[in-house]
Amino acid sequence: MKLILLGPPGAGKGTQAQRLQESFGLVQLSTGDMLRAAVKAGTDIGKQAEAIMARGDMVPDAVVVGIIADRIAQPDAKNGYILDGFPRNVAQAEALDAMLAGKGDKLDAVVELEVDDKILLSRIETRAAQTVGGPRADDNAEALAKRLKVYHEQTAPLTAYYKSRGVLKGVDGMSDINDVTRQLEAVLGLTTKKGKLA
Ligand code: ADP
Repeated sequence: MKLILLGPPGAGKGTQAQRLQESFGLVQLSTGDMLRAAVKAGTDIGKQAEAIMARGDMVPDAVVVGIIADRIAQPDAKNGYILDGFPRNVAQAEALDAMLAGKGDKLDAVVELEVDDKILLSRIETRAAQTVGGPRADDNAEALAKRLKVYHEQTAPLTAYYKSRGVLKGVDGMSDINDVTRQLEAVLGLTTKKGKLA
């Protein structure tokens, strides 16, 4: 199964993707995690991305499209994956469609985690306080405001893009974490061994 999780920063994409990875063996492909690893490792991409990410802007499309193209070609992505943080604008979505079409492949579903902007700042403050090794460079009020603005301007139009292609599903991202997981499994038609998600 090839899946996209859509939603603003702090919507819970990473948390839910990790759960789907554990339960169903789908690999979580987070462009944010990959870029943070590149920054940490001091690669050329990392050097290019560091300041952009810290202020909450988008890394150039060519960079993230290249990262994703390499990553989905790896053997562990063969049985399916969850894209978390990609695509983030229509140009990236079109690049992904072309990439998949080139392999005779397509997306199975795009699930939007629907949340209210008002709760995002408090979720991100909690994450910043709990992150081992200290908060992310972009988990502060100023960068978050920028990330939300970028989200509404550039990423939100993807819901219409995927709706028109008949693959969009929505879940209520405001309910508790286990409930969101259950809703996700339901809309995706996935089932786990009894008790696994209790
Ligand atoms: P969040 O969803 O909480 O904003 P991510 O970890 O997905 O955080 O992304 C952090 C930052 O990494 C983004 O603000 C952006 O700078 C960069 N980034 C991640 N994915 C992409 C992408 N697909 N295109 C451009 N920039 C990206």
